[in-house]
Amino acid sequence: MSDTNLTAILKKQGDIQLEDIPIPEPSQGEVQLCMQHVGICGSDVHYWKHGAIGDFVVKAPMILGHEASGVVSKLGKGVTSLKVGDRVAIEPGVPCRLCSHCKHGRYNLCPDMKFCATPPIHGNLARYYVHAADFCFKLPDNMSTEEGALLEPLSVGVHACNRAGVTLGSKVLICGAGPIGLVNVLTARANGAAVVCITDIDQSRLDMAKSMGATYTLKVTSRDPKEMAQKIEDLMGVQPEITIECSGATPSIQTAIYATKSGGCVVLVGLGQAEITLPIVNASVREVDIRGIFRYANCYPTALAMVASGKVDVKPLITHRFKLEDTLKAFETTFKGEGIKVMIECAKK
Ligand code: NAD
Repeated sequence: MSDTNLTAILKKQGDIQLEDIPIPEPSQGEVQLCMQHVGICGSDVHYWKHGAIGDFVVKAPMILGHEASGVVSKLGKGVTSLKVGDRVAIEPGVPCRLCSHCKHGRYNLCPDMKFCATPPIHGNLARYYVHAADFCFKLPDNMSTEEGALLEPLSVGVHACNRAGVTLGSKVLICGAGPIGLVNVLTARANGAAVVCITDIDQSRLDMAKSMGATYTLKVTSRDPKEMAQKIEDLMGVQPEITIECSGATPSIQTAIYATKSGGCVVLVGLGQAEITLPIVNASVREVDIRGIFRYANCYPTALAMVASGKVDVKPLITHRFKLEDTLKAFETTFKGEGIKVMIECAKK
């Protein structure tokens, strides 16, 4: 345990600094957490390099990090669900709990969502952090705090597969083999998908996808979406009923529509350009549904159960490890596109 609170702060675009800030005290319903592991997400790097994602603009210094786990170090008033010493995964978005979206269980759509490291809300790449107790999930003894941190991206996969309707025997195409494409491979297989084909422009990422359970891998070599859709059908022997697009690249989204079987579903996970041209008539006349996803809702318990039961192994996603003191090196590694998931250890040993 540390008596100081070293914290990674994005002071402004391009400027991450480590500073000691006061250890936060938990309010009613919150817990103080001695942070254990925080994974770096593409969005953390994007805020660092570009200072904004869409309408979310870094206008004031912001603590980075949202793929996190910690150990409960103090309880706020009224917290009975956790005790000091519990190891927890931290679901980073806390909604208002009152609006119609929250009441319908689709709290990821809450307009008052407070999501770690989405400006102006601070993240948790620090030694200490406080969070709503009901968005902390106790880890069983057989799960590490690294696995706890990986429940965040895994929850994106759980939500995407739920929205796509992946089930026993599904034939699934996943476009893009970054961390998000890979968690979708894991969740699609765990949901009983019979065949999973994955595409990418990078062979090393495809090799990783193969080792994590993809049946087929296809290197994207053309920007012609019809040509790529035909290659996918040739490789799979059938058209996929479900496509989960995880690259955000325009040609890949176009391919996703052409490749999907009539009556099937394309789920858009990747976030690329705000406005693009799509073969929308092709999708309409073939009744290919196009669905968006935004993060996840009620997926942490499923993701946790999948890992705890051994149904899903997220550990191979971690390719690099750094200490909190080396946060800048960790961000540079992610920015260079080296490896898959870069994990930061926050606790002082
Ligand atoms: P990433 O950049 O690591 O992975 C994207 C992958 O797509 C890379 O491996 C890249 O080589 C590949 N790619 C690029 N062009 C391609 C093409 N034409 N065809 C096939 N593959 C191609 O990013 P990530 O962390 O895995 O996240 C993936 C996407 O998901 C990002 O756009 C991210 O913003 C988005 N995302 C969305 C949500 C959501 O809630 N909707 C949540 C998390 C991430």
